[in-house]
Amino acid sequence: MAILTHYHRPTEMDEALALLARTDVHLVPLAGGTALIPALETRELREVEGVVDLSRLGLEAIQADGDGIRIGAMVRLTDLMEHPTTGTLADGLLRRTAACEGPINLRNMATVGGTVVTAHPDSELYAAFLALDAQVHFRDAQGEHRIPLAAFQGLEQGLVIALHLSPGQDLRGGHARVARTPRDRPIVAAVAVVGEGVERVALCGVASRPVLADAPLAPPDDCTGTPEYRQAMAQVLSRRALAQARS
Ligand SMILES: Cc1cc2nc3c(=O)[nH]c(=O)nc-3n(C[C@H](O)[C@H](O)[C@H](O)COP(=O)(O)OP(=O)(O)OC[C@H]3O[C@@H](n4cnc5c(N)ncnc54)[C@H](O)[C@@H]3O)c2cc1C
Repeated sequence: MAILTHYHRPTEMDEALALLARTDVHLVPLAGGTALIPALETRELREVEGVVDLSRLGLEAIQADGDGIRIGAMVRLTDLMEHPTTGTLADGLLRRTAACEGPINLRNMATVGGTVVTAHPDSELYAAFLALDAQVHFRDAQGEHRIPLAAFQGLEQGLVIALHLSPGQDLRGGHARVARTPRDRPIVAAVAVVGEGVERVALCGVASRPVLADAPLAPPDDCTGTPEYRQAMAQVLSRRALAQARS
């Protein structure tokens, strides 16, 4: 385990940002800890000296936001799945894809903000947020921003505060995947959303982070699949996810 000499649990956003901007000590945000703690334990993040715990910033609500939904960065994946609105949206697309992120003990801890910042290349939940055209609300040294998740390339420093969805009426969802076993993480997966004037597909397993299907793909080459296989699967799975959403 890396030796952490600093632990902070601020109650104000400005205080959290000021801590993360410190140059005399290297502090990083701590959300559910499911990605961060293993990285500290294996000393992958040797330079980290302390954490800023985000649990007291009031970021764990799912709320109506005009005609949309605001999902706080500290919402746990289990709460996202069980919430009457986010759990049922587009045929339960967030519930179905969050279930693929890991076992229940992981979902009870991992957060929406952590998932967005980690942007794991095979995150089907991240792909579902892309297909739902989510916007990400974050603060950094330049100020406060709200941009499409598809344009978000991560944070050098700062905090993701929330995701916003404006799903409109009657959205349907589809989800198709190939994996080594049914419970394994996907090699490639496609998530589709269709509705009036809406047809969006997002993919994972074909680039360094999940992407919309019309973005340039750069599939990895590893023991689970060659780039050619992944590219071919992306097309097959996109068709299947769209067919499921339309059916
Ligand atoms: C057994 C296991 C299986 C896993 N399977 C998957 C999987 O299938 N797919 C997948 O995508 N991931 C997987 N993960 C990785 C991880 O669980 C997810 O990425 C998770 O959603 C991270 O959320 P967290 O709240 O635990 O983040 P943390 O571990 O707390 O943080 C992760 C990173 O994000 C930063 N961060 C967190 N919240 C914020 C915020 N609001 N603003 C700015 N920075 C922030 C942290 O500083 C850290 O760098 C797995 C992990 C484990 C241990």
